[in-house]
Amino acid sequence: MQISGSIKETRNQVKSWKEEGLKVGLVPTMGYLHEGHKSLIDRARAENDRVVVSIFVNPMQFGPGEDLEAYPRDLERDSKICEEGGVDLIFHPEVEEMYGPDFHGFVDMTVLPEKLCGASRPVHFKGVQTVVTKLFHIIPAHRAYFGQKDAQQLAIIRRMVIDLDFDIEIIGCPIIRETDGLAKSSRNTYLSEEERKQAVILNASLEEAMKAIEEGEQDAAAIKAKITEKLNTCPLARIDYVEVVSFDNIQPIDKIEGAVLIAIAVYIGTTRLIDNRIIM
Ligand code: AMP
Repeated sequence: MQISGSIKETRNQVKSWKEEGLKVGLVPTMGYLHEGHKSLIDRARAENDRVVVSIFVNPMQFGPGEDLEAYPRDLERDSKICEEGGVDLIFHPEVEEMYGPDFHGFVDMTVLPEKLCGASRPVHFKGVQTVVTKLFHIIPAHRAYFGQKDAQQLAIIRRMVIDLDFDIEIIGCPIIRETDGLAKSSRNTYLSEEERKQAVILNASLEEAMKAIEEGEQDAAAIKAKITEKLNTCPLARIDYVEVVSFDNIQPIDKIEGAVLIAIAVYIGTTRLIDNRIIM
């Protein structure tokens, strides 16, 4: 397995694989890898001849006062996980390699980033779209793998690839959870023992919503109320948002029909966690 911090070296390697006729899969991450990332790597490994994992904590997608500095980093541990997962190349650039001193460019869109995490984190998706665009140019893979854990991000990247004619297939992968249902996340490491216990409320509230839908509830407001009520039973939980939106354009809907995203963001103590269900 190679590890490179160089844009030029990485691009040349990927180009030469493609010239040999090999299929390349890309898994973009911010590192501190867990089973969620591993599931994307496994899928990429199964579907491609070469797998590239990018590990880059992208400053452009963090707002002022967010956890950029605190975000966990451990390249040695990540390298082991990648090596065991059959990854061929880790792209791990320094910030200066990605954003030179005169950097002024960005990629953004309207509508899809307006609600949910985009409302709470106004610069976030502009940073995500910009870095993913750069990664797609540096690593011109055939397929790129994203988790449904970040459902709004997945919808935005899919839209961006269609709207801006990127020649890459976007593969969405299911959420990997702890045995008690908490969605795996690098940010779970911020939780104290008590917070970790209470964090199961996110998945539990979504479970109740899904049960209500299975029993015939179709009213989005009723679903939101049910989730809110459940979350409010948890002393350490503070709701950032509970939303029912169309998965296609991430705009609020009144009725459960078509492709629906039920998304929540909740502070457990000071840690902001997200979770969701997608109904297709
Ligand atoms: P991150 O390193 O948090 O930026 O995540 C990198 C990729 O892994 C994104 O596409 C995430 O959606 C995906 N991911 C993170 N956590 C999970 C999870 N629990 N299950 C599936 N995919 C995940």
